[in-house]
Amino acid sequence: MVRDPHSYGNAHEVCPSHLALQLTLNFTQRRMDGRCDLTLTWSQPDATYIDLDTRDLTITAVTDGENRPLNYELGSPHPFMGSRLRVHLPERQETVRVVYHTHPDAAALQWLTPAQTTSQRLPFLFTQSQAILARTWLPCMDSPGVRTTFDAVINVPPGMTAVMGAHHETHEPEQGRFCFTMPYAIPAYLIALAAGELAFRAISDRAGVYAEPAVLDRAAWECADMDHMIRTAEALYGPYRWGRWDTIILPPSFPFGGMENPMLTFATPTILAGDRSLVSLMAHELAHSWSGNLVTNATWGDFWLNEGFTIVDCT
Ligand SMILES: [Zn+2]
Repeated sequence: MVRDPHSYGNAHEVCPSHLALQLTLNFTQRRMDGRCDLTLTWSQPDATYIDLDTRDLTITAVTDGENRPLNYELGSPHPFMGSRLRVHLPERQETVRVVYHTHPDAAALQWLTPAQTTSQRLPFLFTQSQAILARTWLPCMDSPGVRTTFDAVINVPPGMTAVMGAHHETHEPEQGRFCFTMPYAIPAYLIALAAGELAFRAISDRAGVYAEPAVLDRAAWECADMDHMIRTAEALYGPYRWGRWDTIILPPSFPFGGMENPMLTFATPTILAGDRSLVSLMAHELAHSWSGNLVTNATWGDFWLNEGFTIVDCT
């Protein structure tokens, strides 16, 4: 395994293969509170610790799966690498549980006030984990070469909807409780969450659009060709392996054109041109379902492998 210069992880010894997240979103304090249970896969049976990436996380406990405390050290913070979390493993643990909360300025988390949304009724949150920002909202091995499945329980304030790039399980919206599973192993930079006043419109039986209710009609019209795009890409590259392909049109502060989060592309509202002239961005993000999300650069030193095959050549 290639050693990733942007991760503290010792994946060549022991690494997470599944994450179980339980997070409560606190919009007043602009923070997430919760825990992450990491299921471990061992390749060096005599390893004595696991090193995880964190940045600006406040760790309140580290235990095994039975809540028995484990010794750990949080390293001094590096400006962009964050702090190494070393958890000592006296036995060959199956699970490490990290209880923590995020910092109000966590780099992956954009907390929007109601005034920054279209309806101006509720606040909004979205994540942007690429390239090495997942570590600002969950402890993980934040390297594109380390892939995990995950499940998540996300608690939000009344009236809000949470969405993730994952299968939706049984939600309890009246309790503000949303449940997800991601059966396909993905790198941490592709774990994505959004929450706010959201509505959904199906485009086909495997494609659809999330947006603020006031934006949904325009969003669905602009994205009407999503299923056609999937079929065109499948003819070029083979079956679409991720089940659904949904898109969420985010509020205007989303800093990118699009982000290829698996099963749920995050997109800027600037693609809503009214004439479908800018939906090539959607084709680019869909292309990542093969190049980038299925076949991923091992480290960010080879980012060209991710983006090089997804660029639309308009010449
Ligand atoms: Zn791209």
